[in-house]
Parts: sequence; structure tokens; C-alpha cells
Amino acid sequence: MSDTIVTYTPIDAISTTVQDMRSSFKKGTMRDISFRKQQLKALMAGLRAHEKLIADAITADFGRAPQESIFYDILPVQFEIGQALLNMDKWAQPDKPALVRKEPLGTVVIIGPWNYPIRLILLPLIGALAAGNTVVLKPSELAPNSARAIENLVTDCLDPEVVRVVHGGVAETTELLKQRFEHYFYTGNGMVGKIVAKAAAEHLAGVTLELGGKSPVIVHEDVSDLGPAATRIMWGKLVNAGQTCVGVDYVLVHRSVKDRLIELFLNYIENAYGRLPQKSADYPRIINDRHWQRIMALVNSTKGTVLHTCDDQPDQNDRYIPPTIVDNVSFDDPLMSDELFAPVLPIITYDSLDEALGYVNSHDQPLALYSFGSDKSNEYVFANTRSGGALANDTVFHLAAGNFPFGGTGPSGVGRYMGKYSFDTFSHHRSVLKKAIAFPPPSVDSLRFPPYQGEENAWKPKGFGLLLTMVPLWRLMVSVGPLLRGMAKGRDMAAKPASKQ
Ligand code: NAD
Repeated sequence: MSDTIVTYTPIDAISTTVQDMRSSFKKGTMRDISFRKQQLKALMAGLRAHEKLIADAITADFGRAPQESIFYDILPVQFEIGQALLNMDKWAQPDKPALVRKEPLGTVVIIGPWNYPIRLILLPLIGALAAGNTVVLKPSELAPNSARAIENLVTDCLDPEVVRVVHGGVAETTELLKQRFEHYFYTGNGMVGKIVAKAAAEHLAGVTLELGGKSPVIVHEDVSDLGPAATRIMWGKLVNAGQTCVGVDYVLVHRSVKDRLIELFLNYIENAYGRLPQKSADYPRIINDRHWQRIMALVNSTKGTVLHTCDDQPDQNDRYIPPTIVDNVSFDDPLMSDELFAPVLPIITYDSLDEALGYVNSHDQPLALYSFGSDKSNEYVFANTRSGGALANDTVFHLAAGNFPFGGTGPSGVGRYMGKYSFDTFSHHRSVLKKAIAFPPPSVDSLRFPPYQGEENAWKPKGFGLLLTMVPLWRLMVSVGPLLRGMAKGRDMAAKPASKQ
């Protein structure tokens, strides 16, 4: 099968591709950390050379402004490569004192979604390569121009013995998931996440699921400045036309600040996109007809008040949905039933924060949670909720924090990645303890072996017990040095005058 833009990988070629990657892993080339670095440097150079092609591909897929693709898809990947190149020698070091080696897992598959089609397939790829794996990439068929751009980038700059791309839809991905990998890394919706988890279970392999969910924003009555709050919330809603996994899903706002917040939201929309966002080159489109219809069905069924945000109308032929704010939404409104993934913002007013948190806590743990208020209010929210990540007084930006673990919890995901967390996700932590053949001496060594019967062997269980207790004692002795050093440091600090501490 094929799309008009990419040729799908023939089903019977998929297992050969995976076998090729398994064979090249066995050759051991990726054991060499300098070879891994060379691949990452080539990817960095390729991203520079392909920057315009990639940005144009995303524009062709769903109308996102090329500048935003550079900000959100290309620069973060370059930053992540830089982090890996700077730190991977350190990440690859065995942990002391137990001598835990970081070894590559083998051959891994990375299945990407369409909404940030470059970053969400290349960020995990960086961790997989840095850790020394060979990789099969499966870009989303829903963003075919981007999928082709990924293939061009990979074939142009990476070794075909190390990374291959498989194209296709459900049939091809189903075939791919039948293959044995040492790790399955998937980003997308939870329904397919379950399919991927089952495939990993079939092979008793590891799995990372980067999923979604309804990420709330809570705006407290004690927020110090509603201006930046409104800007950051509306940006977090409308970036990528609401098609962002950690994008704002809905707002819970205290009654005393709601009217002013809405006024500021409306200003933001007009300033960013004008009265006719459909004519703005910066306002993206919905990815396909199916999603356009899904979103419009929800908007048409809401019992809330749809506000007038601009002067144009939804347009199915153009897959356009204007920025939409819905006020007076209740907890049981259709807009609250599932992740929106749309430029539609439901607003729920609260009088009691505990009631609002009760709602959040009685639903699936979201991928992100945002709280705008005083330090005390924000901390109260974080202490009384659960989510993949959380951010005070901003939205989405925790993704840019670098070397922070990114991942969901419960239905919003399994596992984490970014920076060292990616390296660890794609590594096997192998404990390797080296002993001397001559120690303990054979006479002592014999106490762990049968026979145990007879008087002459009665000492063995006691001796064996003693040997086992020697092991923690030995570990304690190893710890004495660092312990003494720590105590000495503590004494030094205590001796310094308070002003210099
Ligand atoms: P999608 O439709 O592009 O699907 C993702 C991948 O799954 C594609 O490669 C596709 O080929 C494959 N796939 C689809 N159906 C399949 C099937 N039946 N069997 C096997 N494979 C199949 O992307 P999507 O799922 O629409 O993405 C949107 C969702 O992803 C949202 O829920 C969003 O929150 C979530 N998401 C999460 C993150 C994150 O980092 N946590 C990032 C982006 C998107």
C-alpha cells in the first residue's frame, strides 16, 4: 500500500528490516561510544541541512508556521543531541561501588505520532543511539510529508546498519509489532498504547508509553497578575491548534477572577491571530477530517456558552476550527468526557478549591497539571493531586527544562525519557561483580557446598551464615570512607560563619 506522498514498506519486507537491525547490533559496532557520538553529530548536521525541508513538510501536513516547527520540533532535538554529546561518557560510566554497567538493550522500535512529528520520534532516537542500540523508526502515517522528511534525514545522515525507517498505517504497524524488539517505545493515544504493551508482553520486552490525557489549569483567586497568566494559558491551548499532548485541556478558575481572565483570553486571540484566524499564516489546521468532525460534534453538543472569539466560522474543507472558548461548562459536559486535542477551551468556575481538586482526582491522572497562584496555593495543588508533570505559573514549558524526566502516570503513560532518563530507558543496568578465584580460600569456600550431614559438617550452616553476614559487613566497611568524608565536610560547614555558608 502507499500514500501519495510516502511508499508504505511492503509487509513482507518488515521482518527483514528488523532482522537486519538485529544482525548489525550483534556485530557490535554500537558498543563503541565514539561511533555512537559520530552518529549523533551526523544527525545534528543533518538537522541543520534539512531544517527548511522539515519545517515545510510540517506546514504541508497541517499548516503549522515554519517558525514554530523550528522552535518546537527542530531546536529541542538539537539541544537534546548537545546534551547527549556532552554527558554520555558520564551516563555510560558504571555506577560505583556495585559496578552496575550500562549496556545497550539491543534492537528497539520507536513509533511516533503526527502532532510533533519530528521531535517525538527523534528525541527518543537520541537516547536509543546514545545508549548503543540499533533502531527501527515508525513515523505516523497521518503526517506523510513529515514521515518522508524523517526518512530523507535518516538515509542522508545515519548509518543504515544502525537506523531504518518503516512506513505504513495499521497493517504495517501491526506487522512491525509482531517482530521481536528488546524495547517498544510508543507515543500516541492510549488505545494503541494497549496494543503496543501487549506486543511487548508477547516478547517479554520493555515498553515505554507516552500517552495523553486531560491536562487541567487551575487559576486561583490569589494569582498575582492575571495578564501573563492569561497569555501563557491561551498559548498553551492554541499552540499547534490545541493538538499538543501537554497542551491545556480545560480551565478551572475561581469565580472572583473569571470575568477578567476571559477578557484577557479574548485579547490574546485577537493579538495573536487577528479577527480572522483562518487568514493568519500562523494558525494551524486540524490533522484530518475525522478529528475535525469529532471536535465539531463536541462543540455542537456542549451545554456551555460558546463565546464569540473572532469573526470567521469552522470550515471543514480547510480543516479549520477557530479558537473556541466555552464558558459555564459543568463537570458532566460532553467537552469534559475525553482529551479534547483541539483549539477548544472549556471554562469551569469554582468557589471551593477542594471541590475543583476533587474533580481532578476522581478522573484519570493527567499528563500535565498547571496551577496559577501564590506559592502556597500552587503547592497545595501539587501536594493534593497526581499527574505526569506539573508546572506553576506557566504551561507546557516544563518540556523545555532539559534533563527532567518526561512521562505520564497511570493512563497518561508508562516510563519516562529525556537526557539521562532516555539513556537509562534504553540501557540494561547489568551488575557485574568481579571476584578472585583464590578468595575465599577453598577451605572456607567449601562451607556453602553439601554435604551438610554428619558431625564433621555441623559447622557448615553456622559458617555459611557467618560468611553471609560478612558480606554486609564488607559493604559497611566500603562505606566507611565516604561516611567519614561526609562527616568531615559537615563539620567544616558548621564551623564556617553563617554569612559565608
Ligand atoms: P497517531 O494516530 O499518529 O498514532 C501514533 C502511531 O500509532 C502511528 O505511528 C500509527 O501508525 C500507530 N497506530 C495507529 N493505530 C494503530 C493500531 N491499531 N495498531 C498499531 N499501531 C497503530 O497519533 P495519535 O494517537 O492520534 O496521537 C495523539 C495522541 O497521542 C493524543 O492522545 C496525545 O495526547 C498523545 N500524545 C502523547 C505525547 C506524549 O509525549 N506523551 C505526545 C504526542 C501525542
